[in-house]
Amino acid sequence: MNYSTIQIVLQEVPGEVSICFSICGCKVHCEGCHSPILWKENNGQKLTSTIFQNTLIKYSGFASCVLFMGGEWNKQELISHLKYAQKKGYKTCLYSGEDKIEKSILNHLTWIKTGKWISEKGGLESLTTNQKFLEVQTNKKLNHLFLKTIKL
Ligand code: SF4
Repeated sequence: MNYSTIQIVLQEVPGEVSICFSICGCKVHCEGCHSPILWKENNGQKLTSTIFQNTLIKYSGFASCVLFMGGEWNKQELISHLKYAQKKGYKTCLYSGEDKIEKSILNHLTWIKTGKWISEKGGLESLTTNQKFLEVQTNKKLNHLFLKTIKL
């Protein structure tokens, strides 16, 4: 699988410092997608095991979670990376535009975000969103963690 960026992010997984890998080849093609560069599988560069593992080693003790923005279309590679992340003590999360994710992938995730981007419904911080942020083990919906506190 190819990746477009590797970034440290603070808000995508509440309470966690996440290493975020944005994976190329997204087939959902949402209207208004924030990163159409992720649509072509050949964009970016190959996420080799060496690059992946060295990144996790580099941020060990600083980051607590490994987050994939996509990649479920390369199931075996994704599972292999997730297994390594778990072995190294990281929590794991997948942001997917699909509504359903295979159990073989879910087995290696702490959290999953499902649902495509629909601008009129908004993202996880919206009360009308179609997207779900779930704790995989309990299937508990945790969207409330993304709602902004309104100060009166
Ligand atoms: S799922 Fe995400 S990356 Fe894929 S098209 Fe939709 S917004 Fe873009």
